[in-house]
Amino acid sequence: MSHQQETAVDKDFASLGLAPGLTDCLAELGYEAPTPIQQRAIPAMIAGGDLLCQAATGTGKTASFALPVINRRAAGAEPRKGALPTALVLTPTRELCMQVAEAIHRYGRPYNVRTLPVFGGQPIGRQVSALKRGVDIVVATPGRAMDLLNRGFLKLSDIDTVVLDEADEMLDMGFAEDIDTILTAAPKERQTVMFSATMPKRILRIAERHLNSPEQIRIAREVVPEGERPTIEQTAYIVARPYKPAALARILDVEMPKASLVFCRTRSEVDALTETLNARGYRAEALHGGMDQHQRDRVMSRLRNGTAELLVATDVAARGLDVEQLTHVFNYDVPAAPESYVHRIGRVGRAGREGVAITLAEPREGRQLSAIERTTKQPIRINTLPTSDDMRARRLELTRAALERVCRDGDLDNYRGVLGAVENDFDVDRIALAAIKMAHLTAIGEPDDQEIPQPGFSGKPGKSKSRNRDGRGKKGQRPRHRMNHRGGTRKPKTGAGKSKKR
Ligand code: AMP
Repeated sequence: MSHQQETAVDKDFASLGLAPGLTDCLAELGYEAPTPIQQRAIPAMIAGGDLLCQAATGTGKTASFALPVINRRAAGAEPRKGALPTALVLTPTRELCMQVAEAIHRYGRPYNVRTLPVFGGQPIGRQVSALKRGVDIVVATPGRAMDLLNRGFLKLSDIDTVVLDEADEMLDMGFAEDIDTILTAAPKERQTVMFSATMPKRILRIAERHLNSPEQIRIAREVVPEGERPTIEQTAYIVARPYKPAALARILDVEMPKASLVFCRTRSEVDALTETLNARGYRAEALHGGMDQHQRDRVMSRLRNGTAELLVATDVAARGLDVEQLTHVFNYDVPAAPESYVHRIGRVGRAGREGVAITLAEPREGRQLSAIERTTKQPIRINTLPTSDDMRARRLELTRAALERVCRDGDLDNYRGVLGAVENDFDVDRIALAAIKMAHLTAIGEPDDQEIPQPGFSGKPGKSKSRNRDGRGKKGQRPRHRMNHRGGTRKPKTGAGKSKKR
């Protein structure tokens, strides 16, 4: 385990100086431990100085600034009555603006923090009315912030904290001048925090102009030593969040792992995904920090003896986990730090065994994936999901293979009576087709007709990644098929699994 990983699991949220209401809220959200950037940035921000942080999407950067911003407002405990905002967060895009505002709203709920996202494309009147009613934290795209500032609706006189999120993106989008104007208009006595995935000179120049002796935080990426690099087949699929359950199911059907580990970020995600997978007919068990030793032991033995085929776990819960049967690790999300990735995928491919690591990345997470590649010095191949037509063809192919096997080797005499009973009413062709349909639907279930969009990475993913339509990566290696004519271990997809209580 790398030093980074140790620090990543050693500290808890309470030790970072956050108010108990906030740590309770994080526990409720299922966050088990702060990510590396949170461990560094949260105490530094609470200390009050300016900060320059290098961190990309997926590292947990939003919470690294959102929590201290709320913490400051939580310190007085009394909800503020003043109308003017005290914190301003600038984001490059409307999507990020909404995401950040939602995150602040979620974390700040115990303190009734009033958060307002303002971005172009939404009627300005509604934003103006909200500003007039009174807001604590404004999250804005620079263009709309300028507009509101020029018209006198956004007043910066009470601002004590300014956060620039994804500063490099904002510069790329041509917002340098707007940022300059906004920072100049904000009070001099304030905390300014800049987050950027990259640190080009232009960013450093803005920092020089507007930040006051900032502490620089860069989560050093340890290069994993040659001998310790995992020898695991690593692939990723680009999937938007709403399609992840369907995408995971499809990949599971192609890969057919005997025992695998699916990593999620939070306890709540672990519980939700376990339930979804069970409802889809997989035998999944949850493993997270909220479980006592007895529950954990039971889950582990279910995986070891094959009663369960999938373990859905948080990083903390899966620490040190060593299961001989594991062949696959799935990252339901790109992990917050490259070191966690190395740690996660190290659960397979142990003692010279073959291992497969598959990551579901969101379109915005290209940078994180590139950072992981730089750390591991190994490529992650981007695959394309099989389409529903591909899946249908595969299913039929499996049925054909199973039928051939039974025709060749099966003891069929017991069924002669059934054939005799219907052969006067139907021709043998029709009877055979009906029998195939029954076998197909019983073993495989209803077809999965959902089309899953296959976007590319948005923004700048670093170096371009090779795409491999439908393959498993290695030359000449065909995807294995799952759908089960291999002893009927899979439950039918009826939703019956939903009743499983955990
Ligand atoms: P971000 O890098 O801010 O875009 O965050 C990526 C995702 O990680 C978001 O869905 C957060 O809700 C989640 N997240 C942030 N911090 C943690 C944490 N300490 N534990 C688990 N999930 C987290």
